[in-house]
Amino acid sequence: MSVLSGTPPVSSDSSIATDPSNDEVIIGLEIHCQLDTSTKLFCGCSTDYRDDGPNTHVCPICLGLPGTLPKVNKKAVEYALKVAKALNCEILEESEFARKNYFYPDLNKGYQITQYDRPLAVRGYLDIEGEDGEKRVRITRVHMEEDPGRLVHKGGTDRPKYTLVDYNRAGIPLIEIVTEPDLRSPKEARRFLNKLRATLEYLGVYDSEKEGSLRVDANISIQPRGWFEREGKGKADRGRAEVKNISSYKGVEKALTFEITRQKNAIRRGQKLESATRHFVETRGVTTASRSKEMEQDYRYFPEPDLRPLRVRSWSDKIVLPELPDARKVRFIREYGFSPTHAATVTGDWRVAEFYDNLPKDLAVSAATATWIADTLLGELNYRDMSISDVPHGHFIELITLIRKDTITDKSGVEVLRSLLDQLKEAGSCEKPSECVKRLNLAKTGGEGLEPVISEVLAEQPQAVSDYASGKSEAFNFLIGQVMKKTRGRVDPTELNRVMRETLDSRGP
Ligand code: ZN
Ligand code: MN
Repeated sequence: MSVLSGTPPVSSDSSIATDPSNDEVIIGLEIHCQLDTSTKLFCGCSTDYRDDGPNTHVCPICLGLPGTLPKVNKKAVEYALKVAKALNCEILEESEFARKNYFYPDLNKGYQITQYDRPLAVRGYLDIEGEDGEKRVRITRVHMEEDPGRLVHKGGTDRPKYTLVDYNRAGIPLIEIVTEPDLRSPKEARRFLNKLRATLEYLGVYDSEKEGSLRVDANISIQPRGWFEREGKGKADRGRAEVKNISSYKGVEKALTFEITRQKNAIRRGQKLESATRHFVETRGVTTASRSKEMEQDYRYFPEPDLRPLRVRSWSDKIVLPELPDARKVRFIREYGFSPTHAATVTGDWRVAEFYDNLPKDLAVSAATATWIADTLLGELNYRDMSISDVPHGHFIELITLIRKDTITDKSGVEVLRSLLDQLKEAGSCEKPSECVKRLNLAKTGGEGLEPVISEVLAEQPQAVSDYASGKSEAFNFLIGQVMKKTRGRVDPTELNRVMRETLDSRGP
């Protein structure tokens, strides 16, 4: 806005269109999440299929056999309405299912039951931390649909020898969330998805740790700055890519970053970018052109004749939402004395927030505990590609208590944590923190234990000792460092400083 208001109107786009520094990235997302119900959307089959063999969670309805009739899962609609409400959407008075017709082997009926011109909800928003402060991302629509089955290509996806079909996933309830093209960088897209994930998990309707529970399609183009506000959507100046079927949170940022580089290079070389569907290859971190446009056909949508419209507005009025991420962030600041940054980190993931809320009160209100979780624990977990749900709550409380009671130093605490996480990652279980402290000999060395080590160091470093005596203060820090090295950080730094100072000063010049 400020850029436009201060400058005269641009007469022609040709000058800015060729200047890359005047370009901006425009991203819109379509997100499919599996709703975490216990049964499928239109039949009673269990959704808990991940550990079972193929085609074991199926029935005549989700196999699409002739003569069967779908029946709506009330819980799934309730979950979807919670999502629509949490995303600040306008809920339609009546919502209707529709058939989307296309032929594909994972779609046994020859059509998908989805929603078309009467979705559950429209025109919502989600506020995120954008590149320049708080940002409102508009939600176009929220609708429900059934998941198709899953194809398993044998012999690689490029040239499979043959393909198997598993219908366990067919009929799992999905929520589809479509955003306006309001995102301006891969980082913003990631932040949006993180906030959305947190919101859905706070609602208790989604489990991000279940494999295959997320699929994202991303629309991305690079346009001259301000073009989007002037021209509006649907009038792509330069071509736009739709990257299909990204199935992880990290994948979205990677796919978008790759696309930006690819499109920028094409623009610089003066190549024309065709609007196209592309496919993200997760293992290589690249997008490739989809071989055909077979999916871009007329889906012949029409209202699903086997299901009646749903009166959703009055239903949603009765739904009460739980505490959502923004509210919990405010509460953590107020109740536990969090800094805004720590509060955002800890409440930005539902599991971490729950982990924290379940700590004993005296540990929870400590700034040291907040720092320990937000910085140390999450950092170590991230490094190992682990989740907070891998950490036994009781073990963590014991570890924090050991540090609080001064049994071990903060530094030793990190060492214990690392050892426990490594054990958990390898074996799925770990020893108790107190056992680890004993095994690694990390119990804090008190005043008496310090003296022999100090004497040893002073004997080894006569030069530093005489430097200190002649008033060189760096020599003191050097000697402290030597003791730290020998004791592997087991000593309390304040105590060490005091004893070292006393020992040196008692020697005289
Ligand atoms: Zn079924
Ligand atoms: Mn869809």
